[in-house]
Amino acid sequence: MANKIPVIDTETCIACGNCEAVCPAVFRLSESLGHSEVINPTGAPEDQIQPAMDQCPAQCISWQEAAD
Ligand code: SF4
Repeated sequence: MANKIPVIDTETCIACGNCEAVCPAVFRLSESLGHSEVINPTGAPEDQIQPAMDQCPAQCISWQEAAD
Protein backbone atom coordinates (compact mmCIF):
# COMPACT_ATOMS: atom_id res chain seq x y z
CA MET A 1 0.00 0.00 0.00
CA ALA A 2 1.38 3.35 -1.00
CA ASN A 3 1.99 5.78 1.78
CA LYS A 4 0.13 9.00 1.32
CA ILE A 5 -0.35 11.97 3.54
CA PRO A 6 -2.87 14.82 3.53
CA VAL A 7 -1.66 18.25 2.54
CA ILE A 8 -3.57 21.54 2.89
CA ASP A 9 -3.28 24.28 0.31
CA THR A 10 -3.14 27.00 2.93
CA GLU A 11 -3.66 29.77 0.35
CA THR A 12 -7.05 28.32 -0.54
CA CYS A 13 -8.17 27.28 2.96
CA ILE A 14 -11.04 29.44 4.21
CA ALA A 15 -10.46 28.46 7.85
CA CYS A 16 -13.91 26.96 8.31
CA GLY A 17 -12.65 24.37 10.79
CA ASN A 18 -14.54 21.44 9.31
CA CYS A 19 -11.45 19.29 8.84
CA GLU A 20 -10.62 19.61 12.51
CA ALA A 21 -14.20 18.78 13.45
CA VAL A 22 -14.13 15.65 11.29
CA CYS A 23 -10.61 14.46 12.05
CA PRO A 24 -9.02 16.33 14.97
CA ALA A 25 -6.14 13.85 15.24
CA VAL A 26 -4.79 15.08 11.93
CA PHE A 27 -6.08 18.62 11.33
CA ARG A 28 -6.10 21.71 13.48
CA LEU A 29 -7.47 25.14 12.71
CA SER A 30 -4.91 27.76 13.64
CA GLU A 31 -6.59 31.05 14.33
CA SER A 32 -3.27 32.85 14.48
CA LEU A 33 -2.23 31.55 11.06
CA GLY A 34 -5.71 32.00 9.59
CA HIS A 35 -5.85 28.51 8.10
CA SER A 36 -5.81 24.88 9.13
CA GLU A 37 -2.68 22.80 9.50
CA VAL A 38 -1.87 19.14 9.27
CA ILE A 39 -0.63 18.46 12.78
CA ASN A 40 -0.11 14.74 12.37
CA PRO A 41 -0.35 13.38 8.81
CA THR A 42 -0.45 9.77 9.99
CA GLY A 43 -2.59 10.43 13.06
CA ALA A 44 -5.67 8.68 11.69
CA PRO A 45 -6.42 5.98 9.13
CA GLU A 46 -7.05 6.98 5.55
CA ASP A 47 -10.77 6.30 5.81
CA GLN A 48 -11.04 8.91 8.57
CA ILE A 49 -8.99 11.48 6.69
CA GLN A 50 -10.84 11.04 3.40
CA PRO A 51 -14.19 12.40 4.74
CA ALA A 52 -12.47 15.57 5.96
CA MET A 53 -11.01 15.95 2.50
CA ASP A 54 -14.31 15.26 0.76
CA GLN A 55 -16.18 17.73 2.96
CA CYS A 56 -13.70 20.59 2.71
CA PRO A 57 -15.75 23.41 1.17
CA ALA A 58 -12.67 24.89 -0.48
CA GLN A 59 -11.47 21.48 -1.68
CA CYS A 60 -7.99 22.41 -0.60
CA ILE A 61 -6.92 19.17 1.08
CA SER A 62 -5.26 16.62 -1.15
CA TRP A 63 -3.20 13.47 -0.89
CA GLN A 64 0.47 13.58 -1.50
CA GLU A 65 2.70 10.56 -1.87
CA ALA A 66 4.90 10.24 1.18
CA ALA A 67 8.56 9.55 0.70
CA ASP A 68 9.56 6.11 1.89
S1 SF4 B 1 -12.13 22.05 5.81
FE1 SF4 B 1 -10.83 22.93 4.17
S2 SF4 B 1 -11.34 25.10 4.15
FE2 SF4 B 1 -12.10 24.28 6.08
S3 SF4 B 1 -10.45 24.67 7.55
FE3 SF4 B 1 -10.14 22.59 6.73
S4 SF4 B 1 -8.75 22.84 4.99
FE4 SF4 B 1 -9.57 24.86 5.49
